[in-house]
Amino acid sequence: MQTEVIRIERNNINAQIMQKAGSILKSGGLVAFPTETVYGLGADALNTEAAEKIYAAKGRPSDNPLIIHIADMGHLDKIVKYVPDEAKKLADAFWPGPLTMILNKSACVPYGTTGGLDTVAVRMPSDKIAQELIRRGGGYVAAPSANISGRPSPTTAQHVYEDMNGRIPLILDGGAVEIGLESTIVDLTADVPVILRPGYISLAMVQAILGRAEMDRGLIADDSGIRPKAPGMKYRHYAPKAELKIIEGPIDRVISYINQRADGSRRIGIICTEETREAYPHGDIKSIGSRKNELSIANHLFEVLREFDEDGVEAIYSESFEAPGLGQAIMNRLLKAAGHQRIDVSE
Ligand code: AMP
Ligand code: MG
Repeated sequence: MQTEVIRIERNNINAQIMQKAGSILKSGGLVAFPTETVYGLGADALNTEAAEKIYAAKGRPSDNPLIIHIADMGHLDKIVKYVPDEAKKLADAFWPGPLTMILNKSACVPYGTTGGLDTVAVRMPSDKIAQELIRRGGGYVAAPSANISGRPSPTTAQHVYEDMNGRIPLILDGGAVEIGLESTIVDLTADVPVILRPGYISLAMVQAILGRAEMDRGLIADDSGIRPKAPGMKYRHYAPKAELKIIEGPIDRVISYINQRADGSRRIGIICTEETREAYPHGDIKSIGSRKNELSIANHLFEVLREFDEDGVEAIYSESFEAPGLGQAIMNRLLKAAGHQRIDVSE
């Protein structure tokens, strides 16, 4: 299959191209498109065969459900059994935006979209190109990240092309995304709202609106047998080809630990920040942003992991980015990419 990449200007969206993209979705085909979080691989969420094409293109395990994207609040009723008060409050506060809610599904949502579950994940993205595509594509677009399963999520159309060339007919290129990490997922079907995947919307932000919410214990637990509740969170994810280790402790000790392992050959990859870059004389050194600006780190994390694959490094060492807000989401992705390999150099 020939894959077309078409540039879309967010401030001047070309109606003809969006019409074409919408009709691909309506006829059961796939279109990759930008959202504010990462690039999505879209299909008509209410058409089982279309949703199946997503799993095939990504090589995604079929028990890993898809998020349904809507562009209008009035469309929510159709796909869920009922809209609880907490969902209304969160929608008022954070939609359109990087928050996904798990609700009980209605009969019209096929099990092919929900991985066999009776619940459904719903999000209303803020990206204008995404909204236009959703409206033109019938209103309900199932869209996981547009990467081959297991690879880092795409934050540019080029990343999508690397993974999806020959597998899908169309990629809408809206440039680099705003955030760079997938949406926060909050489950509203349990007694207490639970965050199943951290993202730009932090636990504290959800608690501020609902008064109560907690983190899924499967996410915090490091080595216990507790499984994360979102089926997708149990899979190996975002993993670069080389082994990645996260080094934790006082920053000067972290730097010296990493420098002992690097040499002049660029076989060792190093993930650092603007603040520490000069401290590394050797290695394939990549700064992912500034510690003063967590969003800059979120923006570049997946890109840097992809670049190490291209460079063909043998091992990667990363500084740690623990912090209460967005840092939680950054560390969640980094830990998954590292298969939870962390080394504490505190003493
Ligand atoms: P992705 O679309 O690649 O960002 O992945 C979607 C994430 O949402 C995966 O981790 C899924 O397991 C999770 N998810 C989707 N639907 C549900 C659901 N009904 N219940 C729990 N998690 C879900
Ligand atoms: Mg994904």
